[in-house]
Amino acid sequence: MQTGQINVQTENIFPIIKKFLYSDHEIFLRELVSNAVDATQKLKTLASVGSVKEELGDLTIEIIADKKAKTLTIRDRGIGMTAEEIDKYINQIAFSGAEEFVKKFKNKSEAEQNAIIGHFGLGFYSSFMVSDKVEIYTKTYKKGGATKAVKWECDGSPNYTIEEIEKKERGTDVILHISDEEKEFLEDHKILELLNKYSKFLPVPIKFGKEKNQEKVEGEKDENGNDVYKEVETDRIINNTDPIWKKAPVDLKDEDYKKFYRELYPYNFEDPLFNIHLNVDYPFNLTGVLYFPKLKKNLELQKDKIQLYSNQVFVTDSVEGIVPEFLTLLHGVIDSPDIPLNVSRSYLQSDRNVKKISNHITKKVADKLEEIFKNNREEMEAKWDDIKVFIEYGMISDEKFYERAQKFALLKNHEQKYFTLEEYHEKVKDSQTDKNKKVIYLYSTNKDEQYSYIESAKEKGFDVLEMEGVLDNHFINSLEQKLTDVQFKRVDAETAEKLIDKDEKIPSKLDDKQIEALKPVIEKNIDKVKFSVVFEPLGETDAPILITQSEFLRRMKDMEKLGGSGMMGLGGFPETYNLIVNTNHNTIVSLQEEKDETIQQEKIKQMYDLALLSQSLLKGKDLSDFIKRSFNLMK
Ligand code: ADP
Repeated sequence: MQTGQINVQTENIFPIIKKFLYSDHEIFLRELVSNAVDATQKLKTLASVGSVKEELGDLTIEIIADKKAKTLTIRDRGIGMTAEEIDKYINQIAFSGAEEFVKKFKNKSEAEQNAIIGHFGLGFYSSFMVSDKVEIYTKTYKKGGATKAVKWECDGSPNYTIEEIEKKERGTDVILHISDEEKEFLEDHKILELLNKYSKFLPVPIKFGKEKNQEKVEGEKDENGNDVYKEVETDRIINNTDPIWKKAPVDLKDEDYKKFYRELYPYNFEDPLFNIHLNVDYPFNLTGVLYFPKLKKNLELQKDKIQLYSNQVFVTDSVEGIVPEFLTLLHGVIDSPDIPLNVSRSYLQSDRNVKKISNHITKKVADKLEEIFKNNREEMEAKWDDIKVFIEYGMISDEKFYERAQKFALLKNHEQKYFTLEEYHEKVKDSQTDKNKKVIYLYSTNKDEQYSYIESAKEKGFDVLEMEGVLDNHFINSLEQKLTDVQFKRVDAETAEKLIDKDEKIPSKLDDKQIEALKPVIEKNIDKVKFSVVFEPLGETDAPILITQSEFLRRMKDMEKLGGSGMMGLGGFPETYNLIVNTNHNTIVSLQEEKDETIQQEKIKQMYDLALLSQSLLKGKDLSDFIKRSFNLMK
């Protein structure tokens, strides 16, 4: 037996490993299983080029928990290590890294320490986060010379022992003597959870425990002629070694993508809308499948996320900064060996490769959407209402994506027809250009509340867009900035006559003097703080009194609600509306001739309340008074 001191000049590394990586101690299993997979893959590569001639045998990696002995074993049948290799790869490399680590680590703030930890992959040594002692039993694939099997052992101090042993099988057993504080890592459910999280798509089969399955008994039927099944216990294989994103898209059917989606998110019962298969090998390597999910109403409840892999090893599912923000609501998998495994989030986000990946994903998503639009516009339209939130978000927040998406982004009108931005401009520009040469896009944000306004606009021959999505308010702002000759107006921003202000004068049945006389009579009955009274000649069949809210003020109010605080001091923007009195409506015209003041007042109140009602502004006592008054009128 040989003993030695691990080649490290500084104080013990282990307390640092234990203390600072504590929050993430579960990654030890990912590291060890990844090492086992690497060793197996290397062996396969050697065999494929003829450097290993023997039969490789079953290469399944085994995880074995022994609660009595308090050990967890990770067993592979990979290339193994010679004594010399153990010395080189385990004793020296790891610890020279550790030494540098400790040097940099000292006298740094906690944030800096975290960043430094992020730079150092601890790999094999992360096993000491959970173990009192670690043993390696290994036998190399190499033949002859100094190739005897060896055992290495270390108890978390800088001292190790290494000795020759007898070992039949090629490969490596790493045995962790789990410490008492970490004994949960001996529990089946915990191990299973970690394996499912980190190792679900590793390329070498991983076996852990047994599972019960139903197996058909050949040639046997029950009394009703049905197949007979028996319960059998089989090895539980954790992973799908050949996940869909590694395959060529031509070999896959829509159903395969759906199946994989269910495998990724077993608790999501909704099928995805469509998928994007990523397959890049230049300027970096990246594969993956992204899904556009059917979003839930409440965006905050989205718990399924994009999963990031590095060579089929799960890295993280918090992809902010890696995937463009507007795509973080997508589902699926991204796999790239250029995504560093053992680094902190802040490091990932500043990594240049990672930035390139993000740009590339944006481009790919745009390509796919454009392709669907070009080849299958019907499908795009059918799914538009579900995907528009992604696309609008992208167009608002990402200049490059806007450039691409303006070709396929759609606007929907109240006839449930879809238009590209260009098509819509073409459609309305003749009838909806106002006196300032602005093309006015009319829209509604709530088709029930704004029903009468929508109808009036349509009667005038105008087109109205449905802008009822969560992001539409922002989207409108950003479209106005881009399309400089376009202005959006909600249908209730003006009377239908004035929505598209063409400077045409409609003759009025009341003259200025009559209006002056009528004004105080009307104002007596209304809330003057909230409403400013405007007399306007509208059509005879239009409502006698009508409420509008200026587009500008309403948007300010909306912004204020989003921002939380008032922009104009404590009070914020006042809630003000225009009360439009139609000087061509018969009831208004006849008001001035009405001698009975009570009847006059009643009529004004009734018309006023009806106007309030159509803007959903009539509430509480006013609403109840209105109902009583209406019943009286019926008598
Ligand atoms: P990394 O995997 O990042 O290189 P590790 O500390 O995890 O760092 O491992 C150091 C080295 O030890 C590996 O590169 C490999 O050469 C060797 N090694 C670790 N585990 C095994 C194993 N199961 N079989 C063969 N070699 C291994």
